[in-house]
Amino acid sequence: MNEQNIYLSEKQIQKRIQELGETITQDMKGKDLVCIGILKGSIIFMADLIRHIQLPLSIDFMAASSYGDAMKSSGVVKINMDLAHPIEGKDVLIIEDIVDTGLTLDYLLKHLKMRKPKSLTLCSLLLKPSKLKKPIQVDYLGFSIDDRFVIGYGLDHAEKFRNLPYLAYVEEEDSENQKEKK
Ligand code: 5GP
Repeated sequence: MNEQNIYLSEKQIQKRIQELGETITQDMKGKDLVCIGILKGSIIFMADLIRHIQLPLSIDFMAASSYGDAMKSSGVVKINMDLAHPIEGKDVLIIEDIVDTGLTLDYLLKHLKMRKPKSLTLCSLLLKPSKLKKPIQVDYLGFSIDDRFVIGYGLDHAEKFRNLPYLAYVEEEDSENQKEKK
């Protein structure tokens, strides 16, 4: 990945995550907190964020997909892996990498509400406001970004680049090269 394509540096990301962790720590005091990471994109963000939440908490995971390897939303949401534990009566914090059209979260939030958590809040590292198709309320947001396909810090392009410590954007020709390499 070309260094000049860096969108948000490791330092910028870490600073914002520390702020988010401090805010969540204040807001969630005394609650029975369960952090639910939406796989796979949220793992790096979640691992960093929860270490800035200075409260007792548990973690669980769910996997959903609305994208294949393509860079456009298919609009179809599929739950590929469900939670290991019930969330009834718990204060649930959903941790997501990016809200793009909002279709994935709209589906997941409705689905999780039916399991009767005491509260359901959402933390997303990124939001593309211009792409939203559903009115998703992001309670804790890292960064609002413009309509570009980003990779790194957990986010992939055809399952690669998740391990970059920063966020970069993909040029159209980069994505064409990726397709040719397959
Ligand atoms: P939505 O349902 O909000 O349209 O899409 C949510 C999912 O699409 C995200 O969890 C993520 O996996 C994927 N996605 C959306 N925008 C991007 C992007 O810019 N980069 C990457 N790598 N994935 C994205």
